Amino acid sequence: MNVTGRSQCFLCGSEAICVNTDFGKRKFYQCSNEECGDYEISLNAMHKMENAPSQKQQVMRQVRMYRGTDKMIEVIMGPDNQIMGNPVPRNRQL
Ligand SMILES: [Zn+2]
Repeated sequence: MNVTGRSQCFLCGSEAICVNTDFGKRKFYQCSNEECGDYEISLNAMHKMENAPSQKQQVMRQVRMYRGTDKMIEVIMGPDNQIMGNPVPRNRQL
């Protein structure tokens, strides 16, 4: 079940559209901020990054790099429990 709604971007706090994906285990954000962009992030990664502003900025830079391309950044927890930002095709576009 996808719930579409206006929300605040997890990375920068700007107005964004947020959709639950992967059966609620991830969220897709489409951010209105030109310095930010579209990305999908797992709830685990969100939890890990909640109090890590420098990590958010790092991911935001990656997200921005792919703004306007046919890819977006997927933010997930890697096997070593570190945050990973992977460019993936936009197959879950709105
Ligand atoms: Zn943003």
